[in-house]
Amino acid sequence: MNNPLLNLIIFGPPGSGKGTQAVKIAQQFNLKHLSTGDLLRGQIKNETKLGLEAKAFMDQGELVPDTVVIGMIQDEIKNRATDIHGFIFDGFPRTIAQAESLDNMLAAHNETISLVLSLKVGEEEIVDRLLARGKDSGRADDADEATIRNRIKVYHEKTGPVEDYYNKQSKVDAIAGEGEIQSITEALIDAITVVV
Ligand code: AMP
Repeated sequence: MNNPLLNLIIFGPPGSGKGTQAVKIAQQFNLKHLSTGDLLRGQIKNETKLGLEAKAFMDQGELVPDTVVIGMIQDEIKNRATDIHGFIFDGFPRTIAQAESLDNMLAAHNETISLVLSLKVGEEEIVDRLLARGKDSGRADDADEATIRNRIKVYHEKTGPVEDYYNKQSKVDAIAGEGEIQSITEALIDAITVVV
């Protein structure tokens, strides 16, 4: 029998360092890094119909409709390379509906979420980080404080409950997300090592 895949979710508010850490963890454990934000920005760059639709939501700091992001993830899971050891989902799921769909999609492949790594960063630190990132990321949603505050509000309203959803499955490990990038990576790796 094949070993089960290691399927991780890196969870946290915008600016908590999910993307930075996901890249390192994907390398360390040979996982496919799936960032819905990156996939959506790719669609915008290529000026696809999906990208054009998504851009209006993203520029306001609102969530793109569930059906759009769920469809993208479904394609990625279906078309995955055979040599990966699992996935690290970054910026997904962001709603309970997305979490339920993800569980169903994985169950269809006899798989499950192994662990949810929840990065904890204070709200003012997040705003400071995103404003700093906005100076050179070129991202419209990082450039303006009102949009950043809206993203944090949307996070609390729609995405916060996703952590409770996985808490009920006893799958969440909270990790302090402030301090040196390298020591946060080490804390994440330690947490993952417990489940592999
Ligand atoms: P991110 O790069 O993860 O910060 O995502 C940037 C923006 O893309 C978000 O503010 C949303 O507008 C959109 N987005 C990314 N992932 C999702 C998702 N899972 N569900 C809905 N919208 C998303």
